[in-house]
Amino acid sequence: MIQANHYDVIVVGGGPAGSTTSALLAEQGHRVLVLEKERFPRYHVGESLMPYCYFPLERLGVIDQMDKLGFTQKLSVQFVTPDGKQSQPFYFFEHHDHPSSTTWQVNRDEFDMMLLENAQSKGVQVHQEAKVKSFLKDDDGAVLGVRAEHKDGQKIEYYAPITVDATGRDSLSVTKERWRERDPKLNKVALWTYYRGAKRDPGLAAGSTTVAYIPERGWFWYIPLKDDIVSVGVVGERDYLFREGNDPKMIIDREIEENVWIKDHLSVGEQFGEYWVTGEYSYRSRYCGSNGLVLVGDAFAFLDPVFSSGVFFALKSGAMAADAIHAALESGDHSASAFESYGEQMCEGVELMRKIVYAFYDESFSFGKLIKKYPDLRPELTDCLIGNLEKSDFKELVSAMGEFARLPTELDHGRQGLRPATQPLPAA
Ligand SMILES: Cc1cc2nc3c(=O)[nH]c(=O)nc-3n(C[C@H](O)[C@H](O)[C@H](O)COP(=O)(O)OP(=O)(O)OC[C@H]3O[C@@H](n4cnc5c(N)ncnc54)[C@H](O)[C@@H]3O)c2cc1C
Repeated sequence: MIQANHYDVIVVGGGPAGSTTSALLAEQGHRVLVLEKERFPRYHVGESLMPYCYFPLERLGVIDQMDKLGFTQKLSVQFVTPDGKQSQPFYFFEHHDHPSSTTWQVNRDEFDMMLLENAQSKGVQVHQEAKVKSFLKDDDGAVLGVRAEHKDGQKIEYYAPITVDATGRDSLSVTKERWRERDPKLNKVALWTYYRGAKRDPGLAAGSTTVAYIPERGWFWYIPLKDDIVSVGVVGERDYLFREGNDPKMIIDREIEENVWIKDHLSVGEQFGEYWVTGEYSYRSRYCGSNGLVLVGDAFAFLDPVFSSGVFFALKSGAMAADAIHAALESGDHSASAFESYGEQMCEGVELMRKIVYAFYDESFSFGKLIKKYPDLRPELTDCLIGNLEKSDFKELVSAMGEFARLPTELDHGRQGLRPATQPLPAA
């Protein structure tokens, strides 16, 4: 007999990672519960998708819905120097002639809602405005479920052999277990807001993401959304951005003056709505899971958003975790070891992107210099930037980047939770 509060899988958080994991598990016939603390649609930052988001979205069966939502089509990325010199837009279809090369700049309230509704349509039970307060554990620390507080004040315990932490940057398990490992070199701050009526580039570049540099290795994002809205944000070192105080409007207005292209493009637009600020950049959980628990999306790892990898990793980790969980449920082994290969693969992908992010912030590095010296590596670099991370081992690219930039050594945390973080990984 099925008991009311017992499920096969509990997913905490209904963002892209949680919706993906839950939808794919429900498709396999599992009984899945999503607990989401907000009521959707809700605001979320993180609008620019990487081309390879296409494949998990295709697996979820939502490509038609993406097209119907009328999001801005993103065909390229371009880079702009502080004095306004604009690189040739890099068109994804020049590298990979495939539908994935037309990706999207999404309004996250609509995108996340569509994904959550898609999960529901596959049989996932969703409770919104239900905040998970703690994990339920047995005497050995294995996670047995969660304790949630609903909007009406009810406190309810839910049980499942596997719980998924998809709580985004709140990262419930990382906070509770003190598993957060920061990346001190990538300790940046972001401030952002929205403009209506700002300039768009002509032709195919109209929906392009622009990364516009400011001095001191900071940068702006300029993301054209639908309805004539542009998302504009600035990222940099805390000491640099907050040097004259911490009023976000003052900081953004001041930094707009530091890039000719940004200043020109915003000159005809009108700012509206709130100014947003966040720090706590770039961390990874010490473990990708423990007995009865798996971490996905930002709850597991967050990397500086310069290459728009966040939603991609959320969707990809959600899909990979769903496969690992399905296998674990089939075999009856819900221990941390069931998630070992999932953790290894995620760490590999995150480490690769992390190296490229380090290179981006290194003053002696530029993509132009790298490709000039090693033109043959252009396709490999492009594969990284579109999210095609499984194609090769990227050793040559990393070694060439290392000639121009100080790259980080790989971190040994992020694997499954039975092994202490300091213990060396077994040989492959
Ligand atoms: C400044 C900035 C700019 C970014 N720009 C980009 C970009 O351009 N492109 C890109 O791809 N990514 C970007 N990102 C990253 C992107 O936003 C995230 O990677 C992505 O949202 C992760 O999805 P997720 O499902 O893991 O988490 P989220 O989308 O954060 O979803 C987590 C969900 O869990 C819920 N939740 C949290 N705690 C609880 C709880 N206790 N109980 C129940 N529910 C809970 C939350 O309400 C939320 O709905 C950016 C991030 C930042 C900070």
